[in-house]
Amino acid sequence: MNFYDFQIVFQEVPGEISLCFYITGCPLSCDGCHSPFLWNKDKGDELKLSLYTSLLEKYQAIASCVVFMGGEWEQGTLIDYLKIAQSHGFKTCLYTGQDWIPKSIANHLDYVKLGPWVAEKGGLDQITTNQQFIDLKTKTNINHLFLKPQYHD
Ligand code: SF4
Repeated sequence: MNFYDFQIVFQEVPGEISLCFYITGCPLSCDGCHSPFLWNKDKGDELKLSLYTSLLEKYQAIASCVVFMGGEWEQGTLIDYLKIAQSHGFKTCLYTGQDWIPKSIANHLDYVKLGPWVAEKGGLDQITTNQQFIDLKTKTNINHLFLKPQYHD
């Protein structure tokens, strides 16, 4: 499983400081994709177990969640890495462009973002979006936590 980038992010999971891994090999080719550099699975570097665990340990004290941007196409490795994150005390989240994920992956997630990018519908911060952000522990859609406040005169 190769990753293109690693970042500490604050908005991808409401209420969590997250360690975010951008996994290459996305097969979905959404029209207008903002991250086409994630399509080629040979791009980036292998997310070696030693690097992954060292990052989890390094940021364990300040971050609370691990997010994978993709990677569901390498199900076995993804599940192993989700389990490792959980064993280090992190919550887990997957951003996928698919409308569903197998239970074998969902069983190791606290949150999932479902749905492809559709430019005219917008992302999670738009009320028109086709995407869904689900809290899997409560089985509720929490898209409303991404909406920007609207101010009126
Ligand atoms: S799922 Fe995300 S990365 Fe993959 S093609 Fe769609 S927008 Fe791009």
